[in-house]
Amino acid sequence: MSGNPSVVLRKVGEIVLEERPEPQITDERSVKIAIKRTGICGSDIHYYTHGKIGSFVVESPMVLGHESSGIVVEVGSKVTKCKVGDRVAIEPGVPSRYSDEYKSGHYNLCPHMAFAATPPFDGTLCRYYLSPEDFVVVLPDNVSLDQGAMAEPLSVAVHASKLGGVHFNSSVAVFGAGPVGLLSAACARAMGATQVLVADIFDSKLDIALNMGATHVLNTMNVKDVRTEVEKLLGNYPDVVIEASGAEIAIINGIKILKAGGTFVQVGMGKDLVQFPIGQVAEKELTVKGNFRYCHGDYRDAVALMASGKLNIEPIITHRFAFKNAKDAYDFNLHNGKDVIKTIIEGPEESHKL
Ligand SMILES: [Zn+2]
Repeated sequence: MSGNPSVVLRKVGEIVLEERPEPQITDERSVKIAIKRTGICGSDIHYYTHGKIGSFVVESPMVLGHESSGIVVEVGSKVTKCKVGDRVAIEPGVPSRYSDEYKSGHYNLCPHMAFAATPPFDGTLCRYYLSPEDFVVVLPDNVSLDQGAMAEPLSVAVHASKLGGVHFNSSVAVFGAGPVGLLSAACARAMGATQVLVADIFDSKLDIALNMGATHVLNTMNVKDVRTEVEKLLGNYPDVVIEASGAEIAIINGIKILKAGGTFVQVGMGKDLVQFPIGQVAEKELTVKGNFRYCHGDYRDAVALMASGKLNIEPIITHRFAFKNAKDAYDFNLHNGKDVIKTIIEGPEESHKL
């Protein structure tokens, strides 16, 4: 099988299937992966509709997708970490080893990061994708290719729980029940939190949260005093808040409900400028942290959490499309935002021809 059918964002509003040349291994530590599952991310949709996210602008056609798993089909001559036939999750961002951020142990902040489907770098939604061997995680037998694809958003959740210092018997509140919020709740629970409250404005999403390990849910739609309501539900205030919605009101409520000495982790991206209850940060000696993607060990931990059986990601997969219908998948996501949690694109099939 030659050629590399790829799902390409040509320009704002235009997704096409395009035949590209099959990538060849030139680096002896690289592996070639046949892509099998790819999750659609909010960022893909944003590039599709707006052509940019912050300072990242789509200036030339770009292959979409960065939440992928697949099967290794070829390895460079010096590869030792995986072999042909292994099923793998692909960590989609590769930093520059020359940056201070990389050297100081924060490679997720490397300004020269080559991240799949973030301009100008092509994404993973194609037949064959190349990755350095140390940016793939081999999936144990009991972890599916679906789970392998979900290792990407789950790694964000793992990073957030680590930043928040979640540990056994923690009390955690998560704002926003999109994929990352739901996975953050599941992850906090798997990491030992005994109370995990999820807040959102859609009951359908809160139902999924309950299926994923949340111990409490709160629809904040018509709640005047979220702090009092949280105290009623939990009997105390949370030690950790993971804010995964980006909504100003959720940020404000997150700070308000935290226990004194607690930690606030901002994961969601919304408006750049918001009103912020800074007085409470001082008064309660809160720690406020930002979360950007994931860093060393998070991908491995995400896969290990799924392998442990302590965490079930299945409820977030709400829709599926075949690779040949990828454009429909993006359009469906675009127009059904409230019903979709995560859409998985399956394939491409071995026989797929353009
Ligand atoms: Zn993503």
